[in-house]
Amino acid sequence: TAEREIQHFFPLQSTLGLIKPHATSEQIEKILNMIKEAGFDLTQVKKMSLTPEQIENIYPKITGKDFYKDLLEMLSEGPSMVMILTKWNAVAEWRRLMGPTDPEEAKVLSPDSIRSRFGISKLKNVVHGASNAYEAKEVINRLFENPEEN
Ligand code: UDP
Repeated sequence: TAEREIQHFFPLQSTLGLIKPHATSEQIEKILNMIKEAGFDLTQVKKMSLTPEQIENIYPKITGKDFYKDLLEMLSEGPSMVMILTKWNAVAEWRRLMGPTDPEEAKVLSPDSIRSRFGISKLKNVVHGASNAYEAKEVINRLFENPEEN
C-alpha cells in the first residue's frame, strides 16, 4: 500500500498522547483500538490525575490564552490516560488521527478522526497530542520515569 511505501522515508518516533478525563470508558476502549489499528505501538500507558504544573508542561504555549482556565479546570476534573505512542512519523500521524481541534470542523474535514467521532466541543475534544518532536520528548520525559522501557 501507499502507507507501506511512505513509511520508509520517516524515522520511528514517539509522541505524547493523552485521553482527556471526560472520555467515557467505552470511548477510551474505542480510541485505544483506533490507535492500534492505525499502527501505533502503545509503548507505555498510564492513568493519572494531572497536577496544574504537569498541565502547564503539557500546554507550554497556551498559559496566557483566555481558555486556559477552563482547560486547567477540565483536565483537573479526573484522571487522564497518558500514553507514549510509537510509529513512523508519530507526532504528525497522531495529530492526523486526532483530527482538528474543533470537533465540528473535524466532522467536516476528517470524519474518521477521534475528535470527529467523540469530541463534544473545542474544549472537550477528547484527546491531546504533542505539537512537535521536541515538545513530545520534553513532556514524555517529565511524565514517565523510564520512557525508553517497553
Ligand atoms: N482550546 C479551547 N478553545 C480554543 C482553543 C483551544 O478550549 O479556542 C483547548 C482545547 O481543549 C485544545 C487545547 O485548548 O485541545 C489546546 O489548544 P491547541 O490550539 O494547542 O489545540 P490542539 O493542539 O489540542 O489541537
